[in-house]
Amino acid sequence: MSGTAPVIDVHTHYVPRGWPDLGPGTPWLRIETETDAVIMLGDKEFRRIQADCWDAPTRLADMDADGIDAQVVSPTPVFFSYGRDVAQAIRIARSLNDLALEICAPAPGRLLPMCQVPLQDPDAACEELDRCMAAGHVGVEIGNHVGDRDLDDAGVVTFLQHAAALGAPVFVHPWDMASSPRLDRWMAQWLVGMPAETHLSVLAMILGGVFDRVDERLRICFAHGGGSFAFWLGRMNNAWHKRHDVIGTSQYPPAHSRICPNRGRLSRIAPDLKPGTTASDRGKRNRPLWW
Ligand SMILES: [Zn+2]
Repeated sequence: MSGTAPVIDVHTHYVPRGWPDLGPGTPWLRIETETDAVIMLGDKEFRRIQADCWDAPTRLADMDADGIDAQVVSPTPVFFSYGRDVAQAIRIARSLNDLALEICAPAPGRLLPMCQVPLQDPDAACEELDRCMAAGHVGVEIGNHVGDRDLDDAGVVTFLQHAAALGAPVFVHPWDMASSPRLDRWMAQWLVGMPAETHLSVLAMILGGVFDRVDERLRICFAHGGGSFAFWLGRMNNAWHKRHDVIGTSQYPPAHSRICPNRGRLSRIAPDLKPGTTASDRGKRNRPLWW
């Protein structure tokens, strides 16, 4: 251990070294060497990865070198499959979730798996979350939207309520970023699109009234420091009070103590965390935003 308080990196991903055929159009892995592989989308290279994605000893050695006591190990968003038919998305989620347990099995307490769910179908998503929490996952990672449906969508809210009641933390990861000639260079989908996606989904939760409706037991965390959200809180609060388009669309304004991460939920649910900080601050990597 690296100090009095454990250092937990809440934002890491896994990719198994192989998986069963999950149907046409699903990602596949091109193995290059014992320690290197490429996630492929059709005949296109999506991302080069190394053994730390699937090999517990490699991951643990990196953690020891970085002073990290535990990692939350969540799915890689390219596998979410929200655009596929429900039966296929269920099959993909089950296969990968079971493989995540295998990857983390050598280090219980240090490698903490989060599952994915077929979020396009709330009933199936709740069922898979139940199965995974019973099997040893510590929570669930979801994408920040399902096509054009944001986190205030009725089906997504049903799932969030189920996670709250179950005590399953929810980690929201931006994904499926918009594409255009302006965004398809310089990694702009990742460097601009991801922070904007996250910001939009936090806004949807606030102005869409999700924080008004969902059980206060909900523990939800937005990756990448909440994207650009925190920098625009004053502007959003001003709009809620003064711009007729959004006045009263939610019970509470964005900066109200019920939902402002500086005061209400954050201090109640994660008193040791402040916006933009993480338990792994002494380490490195991403800084999530908790409610
Ligand atoms: Zn990530």
